[in-house]
Amino acid sequence: MAMSRRAFLRGAIGAAGALLVGGRAQAGSTTATVAGDWRPAYLQFEEEGRFAERIDQAYAMLESCQLCPRGCGVDRLHGERGLCRSPEQVVVYSAQPHFGEELPLVGRFGSGTIFFSNCSLRCVFCQNWPIAHEGRGQRLDDEQLAKLMLEVQRIGCHNINLVTPTHVMPHILNATRIAAQQGLRIPLCYNTGGYDAIEAIELLDGIVDIYLPDLKFMDAEQAERYTGAVDYPQTAQRAIAEMHRQVGELVTDVSGVAVRGLMIRHLVMPNRVSGAREFVHWVADTLSTSTYVNIMSQYRVEHHAFEYPDIARAITTQEFLEAMDWAEEAGLTNLDERCVMQREVFRRRG
Ligand code: SF4
Repeated sequence: MAMSRRAFLRGAIGAAGALLVGGRAQAGSTTATVAGDWRPAYLQFEEEGRFAERIDQAYAMLESCQLCPRGCGVDRLHGERGLCRSPEQVVVYSAQPHFGEELPLVGRFGSGTIFFSNCSLRCVFCQNWPIAHEGRGQRLDDEQLAKLMLEVQRIGCHNINLVTPTHVMPHILNATRIAAQQGLRIPLCYNTGGYDAIEAIELLDGIVDIYLPDLKFMDAEQAERYTGAVDYPQTAQRAIAEMHRQVGELVTDVSGVAVRGLMIRHLVMPNRVSGAREFVHWVADTLSTSTYVNIMSQYRVEHHAFEYPDIARAITTQEFLEAMDWAEEAGLTNLDERCVMQREVFRRRG
């Protein structure tokens, strides 16, 4: 039986509330802190009277969709669908406090993840393929999405963590404005796979507080093989450099909870296919050595990955440790606390 929208919202938040079990805030070793009078960027943007025009610009990108580098050119405003298979409205799979994100996002009460269905990347190793590739979830209009944001804030989450937002960016902007007018005051975190058109990221300038992109591949051939996007490395690098220009390095409040800045993820994959060494050196050379970086060890063989011999196994202890050694070699000083702890566990395991 199909679930009503009201029941979906109630269910999503109800399930979320049950997960309120704690957590702790930790600042990265070189993370700056901000005093208690911090305000989200989107609030100032609204006060300056700039939000409505920016939303119009974003929605105009849907007429002949250029929202992501796929550049499908379909009319998303009238129901045409491109590679991401997105309909006119957003499709949300879940909304809940998440305690598995980076600690500055989790704080004490969790990161308020809103998990969007569909995706413009087609990773053969996708760990969320029923959501990202099959589009499971509930359609919401922008007012309902705004309501969901406010509910996430009401139950105490430290941020609105927009998971896979690229293909629904205009809807997010509109919903953020509606929610801001009704009292939204927590940071907006743009949690993306990194395959973002520079024109789309430029429209977020002054609105997004925290960027949380992946940088999955550094080599075009590997990117094409595993995501179908040969331009992924150069496109993602350009987008992340623009994110860094907009928000700078991670800043937390006095409790160690993130309020602004860039946090980058890199998933270590078997047989060095992700290019971890090139990744850490790119961050150090292009951004800064104090950029917040999470080197992740949780690669699993999912979806179609078992059909590709190089990635049809978990990573070895040695593969994760060498990635962490390369981060040290590159001089990175603001590594995610959990990946540092993971290194210690792997070292002891030998
Ligand atoms: S957002 Fe979807 S429809 Fe638009 S260009 Fe990207 S894949 Fe194509």
